[in-house]
Amino acid sequence: MQNTPKTRRRFRVLLAEDDALDQMAFKRQVQAEKLPYDYEIAGSLAAARKALDCGEFDVMLADYYLGDGTAFDILQLSIDVPVIIATGAGDEEIAVKALKSGAYDYLIKDIDRNYLKVMPHIVENAVKHKEAEQALQRYHDELETLVKERTEELAAEKELLSVTVSSMSDGLICVDADRNIVLFNPVCERLTKYRAPEVYGKDIDEIVCFCDEKTRKPLKCPAVKALKSREIRHGTDRDVLVARDGTKTPISATASPIRREIDGVSENAGNRQVTGAVMILRDVSREREIDRLKTDFISSVSHELRTPLTSIKAYASTMLRDRNMPDDLRQNFLKTIDEESNVLKSLIDGLLDISRFEAGTVKMTHEPVDVEATIDRVISSLQPLADKKSIEIKKNVEPELARLLGDESRMRSLIRNLVHNAIKFSPSGGHVLVAAKCVADELIVTVSDYGVGIPKEYLPKIFDRFYRVNQPGKKTKGTGLGLAIVKDIVVMHQGRIDVESEPGKGTTFTIHLPLEPKNSEVPKP
Ligand code: ADP
Repeated sequence: MQNTPKTRRRFRVLLAEDDALDQMAFKRQVQAEKLPYDYEIAGSLAAARKALDCGEFDVMLADYYLGDGTAFDILQLSIDVPVIIATGAGDEEIAVKALKSGAYDYLIKDIDRNYLKVMPHIVENAVKHKEAEQALQRYHDELETLVKERTEELAAEKELLSVTVSSMSDGLICVDADRNIVLFNPVCERLTKYRAPEVYGKDIDEIVCFCDEKTRKPLKCPAVKALKSREIRHGTDRDVLVARDGTKTPISATASPIRREIDGVSENAGNRQVTGAVMILRDVSREREIDRLKTDFISSVSHELRTPLTSIKAYASTMLRDRNMPDDLRQNFLKTIDEESNVLKSLIDGLLDISRFEAGTVKMTHEPVDVEATIDRVISSLQPLADKKSIEIKKNVEPELARLLGDESRMRSLIRNLVHNAIKFSPSGGHVLVAAKCVADELIVTVSDYGVGIPKEYLPKIFDRFYRVNQPGKKTKGTGLGLAIVKDIVVMHQGRIDVESEPGKGTTFTIHLPLEPKNSEVPKP
């Protein structure tokens, strides 16, 4: 290898040349011109192959005839080095063929070796051309990576958006400026009973219909209002969505205009063009049901409080007015006032219990409870009520029932609520059964009646606070708190409650309680 001053760009050149004189001429030229070449000379095709295997070159000069082959054999190797073919005068056809076969350029050897004078220029061009090609390739590769990354990012964003829209618990509809539907998520399909492909391109007013819950009058769609007013618009709190099959769902609807900046128009929102509207639909059946239950509850509680209070007041006023009332009558009146006060107290206790359970501030005692004695106390306290309806309360308790570690007064309240309901929902002359037994480490208490029963669809709701089944034609007193309290007490004792019922045949509540709860902490119901 030769050295030239460091300041010049040096090229690594491979010369494939079998002619010793041509080799000499090349060397002389390099020396004479002080060409910045680090060169290697291969005297045959085999030697050229070896050199290419072992070294790295910027350019290769190859004589056409190489003794053991031709320069075409080198082109066949499809190497990454630009090859300049040297042919004799009159062999231009070979040169053209070489170019077609992938040679970068050619030199025509003349007798005076003038070709060596143009050689540096061609070599430099070949190297620069190669470098430019490589830079272009790098740029192309980088661009391709960027495009690939961006495409993947866009696909991921699109996927995320589509998954988000599909998994939303609310309905989402987008319309264009002409009110035509362009997006309709699965919740909208459920609410309107239309499939998304059926509604795309259709006017939203044809698909999404609102009416007033009370008056049933049609209401304007908030999305249409938002398009017109270019402002956010909300539905009313009495909106109902009417589905294709007439099903009505209480709905909360909010729509916003979609504004887009068109061709660099001012960023001021007021100036941006409204290109559509997006509307969110939220099913508020549960909230409206709770509102209804609360209203029912308030009127029910007021009624429940007023009945005993009215009678207390009436008896007290009569006693005040009639100072000479016979003692036995006064005694009777006082007894009634006492009983009615107890009713009031238990109602208020129930309300307080519920609010304490809600606040998580309930304290329970852990004492051995004689469940049979508790059942007896409940039965004797409810006997007058049962007698009024000629209902017999039967008891079936396993002898020597194991004691339960728990809170006696709450257990009494639990059994009382169930037996009270059993009497309340039984026809006159019927009977109610309270049973208790132990299985393994569990106490099982059942309260059965043969009364009105509960339709299957209401069973999951009866333990909800304030929930009361609407029995057509029947108006029984109550607050809808009893079973909620029962459930809270069962949970406190780490047990569970099941209910089986058949309308017209009767109802059985079964409570499973561990005899010794695992820890003394009171779980929040
Ligand atoms: P309520 O004060 O109305 O009795 P509860 O919470 O005790 O409230 O009961 C909730 C509802 O469950 C009742 O209104 C009634 O419709 C139904 N229910 C409870 N127990 C019975 C039963 N033994 N037979 C039929 N229906 C019952």
